[in-house]
Amino acid sequence: MSGTKKYFAGLDIGGTTIKSMLVDEQGEVVGEMLEVRSHVDEGFRRTFEQLIAAVDALCEANGLSRDQLAGVGLDVPAPSCDGVIWSKANLAQDWVGVNIAKEFEAVIGVPLYMTNDGNAAAAGEYAVRPDYEGSLLMAAPGTGLAGGLVLPGGRIYEGANGLSLEVGHNSVPFREDDGSLPQCTCGQVGCVEAWVSLMALRRRLGLELEKEKWAGHVLNQDDAPIGEKAFRLRDLAQDGDELSIEIFKQQGFIFGHALADLARLFDPGLIVIGGGLAESSFRDQYLEWIMEGFESRAWPIYLRSPIDPEQVTTDFQWASGGDSAAALGMAFEAQMMFGEG
Ligand SMILES: [Zn+2]
Repeated sequence: MSGTKKYFAGLDIGGTTIKSMLVDEQGEVVGEMLEVRSHVDEGFRRTFEQLIAAVDALCEANGLSRDQLAGVGLDVPAPSCDGVIWSKANLAQDWVGVNIAKEFEAVIGVPLYMTNDGNAAAAGEYAVRPDYEGSLLMAAPGTGLAGGLVLPGGRIYEGANGLSLEVGHNSVPFREDDGSLPQCTCGQVGCVEAWVSLMALRRRLGLELEKEKWAGHVLNQDDAPIGEKAFRLRDLAQDGDELSIEIFKQQGFIFGHALADLARLFDPGLIVIGGGLAESSFRDQYLEWIMEGFESRAWPIYLRSPIDPEQVTTDFQWASGGDSAAALGMAFEAQMMFGEG
């Protein structure tokens, strides 16, 4: 070894931009997060050009050359199995069925690790809690319900094929007023994501606005598309609107119920809640609703130690890694994976 310091890049591919972060051999952050357009709808080769641009910008901003990179962590906004994307989400069709990890590793010439964005965000939340050494389960309601599990020490748990922790698609025993199970985007019915996601808010709102009870509600006063109205629910809930609060309360309860089953499987010790509500002014209230759902389903030992009732066995925290969490998580994973020896 020449003694030259090695660095590790984290690249987080989103629907619009690629966020990038750099860490050194100790896992310390170097410089700042950078962002370039992702162009994911123009085919994966186009995004590869952008990934290279992102890496070069990161190196240039920190006075490095690309050969000082000892590893790259890459996350993609779609389900993948060992580097192969199998469902396109927002991506162009040509991403599906290709071994993206292998192809990009050949282009960049640096050892590469790839996973999905849910796992990357969980790793990022782990990275911003350097004093925490246990395991961490993350669940983040957004358009869908993503999640990830980090094992004690910091490595992501991905299962045998990278297919684990699809936390949005466990089934929950809740039904609509007419007794039916809600349709999920995955093709199944009754998934927790069909209750806890932006998609779910949209459906719930549509059903509620048809009720006589809400005939005079402000969201029944104009004919904006239901998707737009659903985006207004958070602001309305912050202002104390009864309908919006009712919808979030139900969502929080079902979310907590589902998290209790995950706690029973993984006993994570720490559950981090991500998604847009992490920034809302009613998040404390929302977390109480989650806890109500959790307590309705979890055995008491998942709340407190049987020996010391002061000791919490499952801690809940809001995500705190911000916009750069997934990119940081991937840099952190690359450092752990390729940093030895
Ligand atoms: Zn589903």
